[in-house]
Amino acid sequence: MKWEELTAPQFVQAIETCGGVCLLPLGVIEKHGEHMPLGTDLFIAREIACRAAAIEPAIVFPPYFFTQIFEARHVPGTIGIESRVMLDLLQATCDEIARNGLKKIILVNAHGGNRYFLPHFIMLQLERPKDYVVYLPTEPAWMADPEFAQGWQERVESQGRDEHAGEMETSLGLALFPHLVDRQAIPAGEGAERGRLKELTQAHIYNAIEWYADFPTHYAGQGEYGTAAKGEFLVDHLVEGLVRIIRLVKQDHHSLELQQEFFRRLAGSSGPGESL
Ligand SMILES: [Zn+2]
Repeated sequence: MKWEELTAPQFVQAIETCGGVCLLPLGVIEKHGEHMPLGTDLFIAREIACRAAAIEPAIVFPPYFFTQIFEARHVPGTIGIESRVMLDLLQATCDEIARNGLKKIILVNAHGGNRYFLPHFIMLQLERPKDYVVYLPTEPAWMADPEFAQGWQERVESQGRDEHAGEMETSLGLALFPHLVDRQAIPAGEGAERGRLKELTQAHIYNAIEWYADFPTHYAGQGEYGTAAKGEFLVDHLVEGLVRIIRLVKQDHHSLELQQEFFRRLAGSSGPGESL
């Protein structure tokens, strides 16, 4: 159920059908090696969300790509907006989703560069009272099916880090939008880790230029090993994983209650049982 394709009366009905759950697929616009489209993460997040919502009903938010990507601003096509705008826009978007009656918002993230931004955004949900809950499934939530990790291990052929436009992402692209993937353009060897800050990274000390130090052309992995068949395997498991996540969120009646209790205690004025 794509939000933008529903009529207003259908939208009202859909809130009921979906148990008030909205999927907010999060991508970004950034270079993906030489061979994948700038909107790769957006396309993947949205397609996985739509396929899962077709199995376990949820409303899927329209395309959203204003997320964290400063590390790719030196390469063509990147849209990296100022961090305060990024945070405020995501919060305002969640506020609007909830104002429309969808009180459970699941962030469906397909962009590795959001790995610190989104958990931070989640903690900011306690900054001020609200009548909705934002859920962030992190990697272990998707990998909860042991067959997934094991099945991928059996298929993977590339060596080293497979992170950005590498074997996994290229496979997803070949399964979901093959007409936008240019296999001939995959640069041999360019996705190898440079290790220019390895003394720090091996000691688990992090700074902002670490990613650039390893992958200055914004390509990390060996996309040449990507195939549509591997992509289909990944898509099936990602969709199954998201279906499982949506069901868990639908069953969750505690988070909002606890969140409201927290804000009542914070205000220090009203007793249990009162709503905000
Ligand atoms: Zn990507």
